[in-house]
Amino acid sequence: MSATLSGTKVFMNFEVTPTSHTLADYRARGGYATLEKVLKEMQPEQVTKEVAGSGLLGHGGAAFPAGRKWGVIKLNDGQPHYLCMNADEGEPGTFKDRWLLEHTPHLLLEGMLMGAYALQGRHTFVYIRGEFDLPYRRLAEALEEAYAAGLFGENIMGTGFSCDLVIYRGAGSYVCGEASAMLTSLEGKKGYPRNRPPRLTVAGLYQKPTVVNNVETIANIPYIVRHGAEAFKKIGTPKSPGTSLISVSGHINTPGVYEVEYGYPFADFLAKECGGMLGGKALKCVVPGGISTKVLTADDIMPITYDHNAFLEAGSQVGSQGMIVVAEGTCMVKLMQVMMRFYHHESCGQCTPCREGMGWLEKISNRIVAGRGAPSDIERLYQISNANDGTTICGLGDAAGYAVSGILDKYRHEFDYYIEHGKSMFDGQLEVML
Ligand code: SF4
Repeated sequence: MSATLSGTKVFMNFEVTPTSHTLADYRARGGYATLEKVLKEMQPEQVTKEVAGSGLLGHGGAAFPAGRKWGVIKLNDGQPHYLCMNADEGEPGTFKDRWLLEHTPHLLLEGMLMGAYALQGRHTFVYIRGEFDLPYRRLAEALEEAYAAGLFGENIMGTGFSCDLVIYRGAGSYVCGEASAMLTSLEGKKGYPRNRPPRLTVAGLYQKPTVVNNVETIANIPYIVRHGAEAFKKIGTPKSPGTSLISVSGHINTPGVYEVEYGYPFADFLAKECGGMLGGKALKCVVPGGISTKVLTADDIMPITYDHNAFLEAGSQVGSQGMIVVAEGTCMVKLMQVMMRFYHHESCGQCTPCREGMGWLEKISNRIVAGRGAPSDIERLYQISNANDGTTICGLGDAAGYAVSGILDKYRHEFDYYIEHGKSMFDGQLEVML
């Protein structure tokens, strides 16, 4: 697989300038030209077929095939169909959707229009993270421009297709990034995740068939429709087609958002895009896809490529594509404490194993870090993590368990040392950066 991405970039094939987010600039890059072709020349089923044929995997964390999700919607069932873009990017370390919202909002609006047409949806929604200020303003301005240009509303481009879009700002809850919680919040209720079945494609927003797609997933649609499924499949690997935006932070020289083709060697990514390790330190491990994915040690990740299969085989996931690079000298006990504080704070409290378990995980982590841990604490951390596995409504409880067991499996000796000596084996070295 080629390590150079020249000519194959899906999103970042333009220079970010003070006006690159505007309608005029987007049109100059060929924006909305394909939409006209879609509305005038293609059947809705053809659009879905193209997306399904491309093998596009969702970019929100679960990597579910986007076309398969669209294909579940029955076009002639007499019901309204809703398309919602999930812009509630809240997974720690993940900030790549924010880049898209800030720099190319019209790409997202064009993708939403194509999706709405494919699903025959009259009303579409964007649920955007409340803390996102510039991304919200950029998207709202772009939507205003699009309405003024006749790209939304009644009878778009004289084709008879009509579509409206509502932008809804969240109020800062992590769990509202979970699709069913997002829809419940969108309905004006408390953002609690829902039990499934029924699936959201059967009974989603207002109990009607609904597709929820991540921002980056939607951003892929115009490219796929414009160039075709076959062209898209030539990028990336057979099982991970296309590219991925990685937001990377931690102990590296050049944190940021980078687009890489799936199949890109991680060692190259670290050396080139990340600019190498901060201060020339050695790599200890990587939290590969948001804190809900299991850590990969340097030995795990340095020989592999960046794609779904390689990460699964190494025992983790691409997840939300938010990578945190950790240098040698960082205390994993303290790293876990930070993670548990987050999960405890964000548990919505509906399920007992999560509501109680997150509190216990944080308390035990705090106790160990305070130098008052007991040898039995490690087994207790495992037990609480396992108790959440598959017993909760949404994935938050599971995810916290994966984070705990992932760190304990690889770095148990650091916990043993901390409990025995009442302090970190790295005291006085690098501080945790999360
Ligand atoms: Fe709420 Fe946790 Fe249950 Fe998810 S797993 S619904 S966050 S209590």
